[in-house]
Amino acid sequence: MITTEAAVLTAVNEPLEFTEILVDDPEPHEVRLAVSNVGLCHSDLHYMTGTVSADLPVVVGHEVAGVVESVGSAVTTLRPGDRVVGALTPSCGMCRNCQVGHSTQCQRVTRIRQRPRPAFQLLDGRVVHRLGDVGAFSRHTLMRENSLVKVADEVGLHVGCLLSCCIITGVGAVFRGAEVRPGATVAVIGCGGVGSAIIQGARLAGASAIVAVDLDDARLAAARVYGATHVVNGAADVAAEIQNLLGDGVDYSFEAVGSARTAATALEVLRPTGTACLVGIAPDGTDLTLPAWNFFFSEKRLIGSYMGSGQAQEDIAQFARLYQQGRLLLDEMVSDVIGFRDIDKGFEAMKSGEVTRIVADLTV
Ligand SMILES: [Zn+2]
Ligand SMILES: [Zn+2]
Repeated sequence: MITTEAAVLTAVNEPLEFTEILVDDPEPHEVRLAVSNVGLCHSDLHYMTGTVSADLPVVVGHEVAGVVESVGSAVTTLRPGDRVVGALTPSCGMCRNCQVGHSTQCQRVTRIRQRPRPAFQLLDGRVVHRLGDVGAFSRHTLMRENSLVKVADEVGLHVGCLLSCCIITGVGAVFRGAEVRPGATVAVIGCGGVGSAIIQGARLAGASAIVAVDLDDARLAAARVYGATHVVNGAADVAAEIQNLLGDGVDYSFEAVGSARTAATALEVLRPTGTACLVGIAPDGTDLTLPAWNFFFSEKRLIGSYMGSGQAQEDIAQFARLYQQGRLLLDEMVSDVIGFRDIDKGFEAMKSGEVTRIVADLTV
């Protein structure tokens, strides 16, 4: 067991508490990671503000990259000193869903999340929970060997961490979730970290038109850098604007906000037979009410994609190579790198909507 510093959420809508915690030794298939960089993600904010409930106290933070510090007795593919990015959906690799590549739907996820001892504890012995079994706002954490992907030295960890959540989620939704065809037309509703990744995925997939939709003009300007061919301010009648721009609805729409209203927009902007893909995480209790004619008369489809739809390890390794080739833009997505103690300020800045991604540096 080691002692380290963590940012602990002890009550919703309160500042994080920077305090010493105990981090357990790795189990046989685990690795203890010295966390170097963590991207600030809207999912963290859901837990911090209570729109999605969590057991407290908890360490949030999950878009993680770091350096392997020590390994469990059964670990064979990683060594201390390896630079790694988190693949955040723990999976067994052996159940029916894992075997067909749907590891985000692992049937044994509850069992493999169990540890004989808590991973994190306060110095008085109280258990500290970890968001998604990651708990990245801690200078050290424990992760399973198969939840980490080694990256080349050329991939800076302050940008590499983006691969772990927003890039895999966004690009994965395009490639594996909706399976966008070359030449197709795409609309992306919400252009934060995940939306920017979806735009890049659509560009890589060979979409012939990519319409970025957001309420923030700075984000729309950035969307053009990632590959948007058209932009629409979300305050307008989005479906009518897209009709004007393209002369038709789109083949694929992606919702990266997490609200019932934007989900309805995603369905509305489709041409008949188009596919709407819900990617944004909606607050607990969100229900969708949608006009049914879309599905029979217009043969539209509504699907979801979670964390890139299931092949994170392989995809992250490929996306890292696309970054090294200059085809996947990561540096451009990092609006700011902040110190560990400035995480609360970073989340405040994120709420303003002008940033794509703020990354915390835990090495200083
Ligand atoms: Zn995230
Ligand atoms: Zn499984």
